[in-house]
Amino acid sequence: MADQGVDFTLLSVGADLPYFTAYEAMPSERLTVLVVPPSGEPVLFLPELEAPRVEAGHFAVRPWSEIEDPVDLAAALGDPRRVAVGDHMWSVFLTRFQKLWSHVSWMPASEITSELRMRKDADEIELLRRAAHGVDRVMARILDEVGFGGRTEIEVARHLAELTIEEGHDTAEFTIVASGTNAASPHHHAGERVIEPGDVVVCDYGGRWEGYYSDSTRTFVVGEPSQAQVEIHAVVQAANEAGRGAVASGIACQDIDRAAREVIDDAGYGEYFIHRTGHGIGLEVHEHPYMVEGNERPLESGMTFSVEPGIYLPDRFGVRIEDIVVCTEDGIESLNQWERGLISVT
Ligand code: ZN
Ligand code: ZN
Ligand code: ZN
Repeated sequence: MADQGVDFTLLSVGADLPYFTAYEAMPSERLTVLVVPPSGEPVLFLPELEAPRVEAGHFAVRPWSEIEDPVDLAAALGDPRRVAVGDHMWSVFLTRFQKLWSHVSWMPASEITSELRMRKDADEIELLRRAAHGVDRVMARILDEVGFGGRTEIEVARHLAELTIEEGHDTAEFTIVASGTNAASPHHHAGERVIEPGDVVVCDYGGRWEGYYSDSTRTFVVGEPSQAQVEIHAVVQAANEAGRGAVASGIACQDIDRAAREVIDDAGYGEYFIHRTGHGIGLEVHEHPYMVEGNERPLESGMTFSVEPGIYLPDRFGVRIEDIVVCTEDGIESLNQWERGLISVT
């Protein structure tokens, strides 16, 4: 904050607040906001009825009653010139702060907080590891327990979500099951399509484990794969391997993307790899740093992110293989380790 000349940082809903306080704000029309001054004690303003959920830490707690105005209370803390505001603060509150502090220049808090959150400590990595191993166990159970052919994508998605909880997650947060031509859409929402023999099925799912996310993708085939499915899958698997193989501290984020993309380009499918190679992961499923062309930031030990190249052939099918990895002192730890080859399911 001092480097950026910031007088106050305001943190509300989103992952920054729990990162610093272990308290997660209820997304609600009642404002929760931590006001962080450059020195001295931060103050957490929150609705009186939420106060029993908060454990005071290195900050003061100021519950506000239903007849008080939290924006007025927080704004009365000072007369700042520059304020950083949490990326997810609702505009209904921000616009009121902007009115009361009309001469303030504003910036997103992530420009400060992401610098802290990007490098995970050993405890954070352990939670990400447990989460990743949890989804790996779900992958293994898919083979024995989850039938695909004849079921709808939604049915399979519900089943995967159940297994995600059974394998230790607190919540299952997202479950992409994209079959047949739907697999050509990277963020397809599981729907009523009935999965058929010969379909490729992209399964991309994850949840939260004590706040930290898992996120892994494997692509299966129902019954015997076609020659094209085998070929495309092999290219994506090689791209995933090249992306992971490039990870080392000091390497630019964009070089991870380039390493994976080169394999797909060389195989002639470059135009069908329509997203970046990876995203940071932690308290949010997508966070800094991003493995994308143009991001010259060097990787550092403790950074956790996905490597998830894919090929998406419109009206035909798609393949993605995604692992969560950690950049370590001497290379890489792949948190997801489950089999990456094309596996035939029933
Ligand atoms: Zn995604
Ligand atoms: Zn994913
Ligand atoms: Zn991902």
